[in-house]
Amino acid sequence: MIKIKKTDCPEYLLRPHIEDRLVTIKQEIDDPEIEHDIPDYWRNNAVRDELYAAHYEGKCCYCERRRDRTREPDVEHFRPKKSVKNTSHPGYWWLAYDWNNLLWACKACNEDYKGTKFPIFNENKRASNYCLDENIERPKLINPRREDPAEYIGFSCEKHAGRYYVRPIAKPHLTGEKREKANATIDMVGLDRDTLVSERGEALQGLKEIADSMIMAKKSMMHLRMEGKTEDAESIQEEVDRLANLIGEATNPIKSFCGVRREFFINYGLDKYISNI
Ligand SMILES: [Zn+2]
Repeated sequence: MIKIKKTDCPEYLLRPHIEDRLVTIKQEIDDPEIEHDIPDYWRNNAVRDELYAAHYEGKCCYCERRRDRTREPDVEHFRPKKSVKNTSHPGYWWLAYDWNNLLWACKACNEDYKGTKFPIFNENKRASNYCLDENIERPKLINPRREDPAEYIGFSCEKHAGRYYVRPIAKPHLTGEKREKANATIDMVGLDRDTLVSERGEALQGLKEIADSMIMAKKSMMHLRMEGKTEDAESIQEEVDRLANLIGEATNPIKSFCGVRREFFINYGLDKYISNI
């Protein structure tokens, strides 16, 4: 997971028919005789285009896998709109068209794992209706719109038979609620499922060579400068620049599994070269 890009609410979501629909739901919601309908206006292309851009060309907000835009259309509601698992909550229907509640997720994370789960730490403060402020809730799920997931989730890498396998873990220094939040998020959207563990490993292939070359080049350059061999040092600078570009490209947020790629270079002490886009 990485933090998603801040973008403006599409004008489409502010149109009167959407507000009208919410007014109707508000009137229907307390009547058990009426099955209220929440039309999927969030699937409108104007909304999906903006979500696609905010999620670095359509990456899943949870697993960071690149999705197929046409075969896997899944607009995700951070707070579920129709019900909340293990509670009698009617769902956060009033946020069904709220830009800040919409994310872009893959089918596996959204449907196979998250579904209508939305546990919070302060259950007694859950916003059970539209009059209450949902912002006082403390969700167990990391919200990549508001928080930097890298503050919570790190990775543990193992190598077997020449292949890397990368599992998500709560960052080791975390304690208490933050640690629980990291673990709950990993569990809730299935971030340690086998397919992702392998695919993250594949995303690291070739990066070790780049990192090792960069460390070597920087060391050589430092030694040459200390020996006063400025011209030789300058020739190595070109190699450093080339490797810096490669690290920048490898950690560009449009790349799948950018979170683990970034952590990989940070662990090498090469954080100043990672993409800051
Ligand atoms: Zn996903």
